[in-house]
Amino acid sequence: MTPSGGEPLLQVRVRAEPDIFVARKLGREVARAVGLERQDQTRFATALSEIGRVLLAAGGAADIAFLPDGANPPTLWVVMVSPAAAPDAVTQGTAPVRRLVDSLEVSDARFGTVVRLSRRLPTQAPPLTRKRLDEIRDELAHLAPGSPLEELADQNEQLIAALDEVRAQRDELARLNAELEETNRGVMALYHQLSDELEETNRGVVALYGELDEKSVQLRAASEAKSRFLANVSHELRAPVTAIIGLGRLLTDSASDPLTEEQSRQVELIRGSATDLLTLVNDLLDLAKAEAGRIEPEISDVDLKVVFGELRGTLRALATRPEVELIVEDPDPVTLRTDEVLLARVLRNLMTNALKFTERGSVRLSARGSVFTVADTGVGIPEELQERIFEEFYQVPSGVTARGTGTGLGLPYARRLVTILGGTLTLQSTPGVGSTFTVTLPEA
Ligand code: ADP
Repeated sequence: MTPSGGEPLLQVRVRAEPDIFVARKLGREVARAVGLERQDQTRFATALSEIGRVLLAAGGAADIAFLPDGANPPTLWVVMVSPAAAPDAVTQGTAPVRRLVDSLEVSDARFGTVVRLSRRLPTQAPPLTRKRLDEIRDELAHLAPGSPLEELADQNEQLIAALDEVRAQRDELARLNAELEETNRGVMALYHQLSDELEETNRGVVALYGELDEKSVQLRAASEAKSRFLANVSHELRAPVTAIIGLGRLLTDSASDPLTEEQSRQVELIRGSATDLLTLVNDLLDLAKAEAGRIEPEISDVDLKVVFGELRGTLRALATRPEVELIVEDPDPVTLRTDEVLLARVLRNLMTNALKFTERGSVRLSARGSVFTVADTGVGIPEELQERIFEEFYQVPSGVTARGTGTGLGLPYARRLVTILGGTLTLQSTPGVGSTFTVTLPEA
């Protein structure tokens, strides 16, 4: 920006050292008159006298013109022209002065070296109307040119004021520093405390993890031992139990010596018990195999129509109650990628249970997508036991007559198989209303 055209507020010529004092004094007065604050008046006056001194030293007198500009933002411009001063020396000499003003520019014009400087006026300063400028001109015209001594006294006064301010600022700085140091100490203390606490918590967590690892290793070992034990025991039991059943059959065979009525009744009892025992042993063996991870699913495209058809056939033999309707719906869709044998085993298991625990109403098997449901209108299972029935050997204690005895291994086995197929087995049941078991298999 450059000063707008218009009449200068004041002009003064600097020819020798004493004129610098005059320029300084006038500079301060002009600064005051246009509304600069006290500190800025001093800065501005100092800038003027410094530049005056530089111009004199660089070889020449100078004319100084003060040009206030009321435009937005209002600015006080000063233009100094020195016909003889060397521009390079002026540029170099005025460099430190730049800090004191908003802009400072040295140019080499045809008629000499020109220095332009500007200082923005504070917003609260009275607007520089033509009237105000005339007033200022009047004020300045009455100003008696002071002696260098007076100006020196003034300067001293300003210096003292500036020093006072510097001291006050230094004290404030020291106070702030002390405060900061104290806050820092507090923060450091807090930080140390927190990191100590964190470290302690970390140690605790690490120890806990160690314990957890150890426990899960033990748990795995125990579970493996249990599966091994079950597999071995049931395997070992199968042969003798099968032998007992065979021997019982031999005893009651028509080719054998005839038995008394009482003897054949007892042999029948033995055979019945042995058959139950064989079921238990077989169930145990199946479960142990499933748990030991020895069952690998054989995934293929399964025709659900075929699976459902076979189930319909085998279950009809079990559905002997005329009050219970056995419904096997047509599957939709008809093919699914899964293990046919395992799926059939799970569904047969759930359907057998449903028929066993339903006295009237219906037992229904349906399939939608990869979701299979077995819904019955039987005795139902109390809410608090709905997870327990998936535990080995657990049977709901009830007065309701369930036909045939069970082992309490069917549901844990079914859930295990569904897990092997990558799915879930869930239950919804209301006592007295019925139960719905849902097998959800992966879609793909
Ligand atoms: P099991 O049928 O050999 O007793 P399961 O593991 O198949 O063993 O079932 C455990 C128990 O869960 C059953 O004894 C029975 O109390 C209960 N239960 C299972 N299915 C049903 C059902 N559809 N309705 C009512 N109770 C059921």
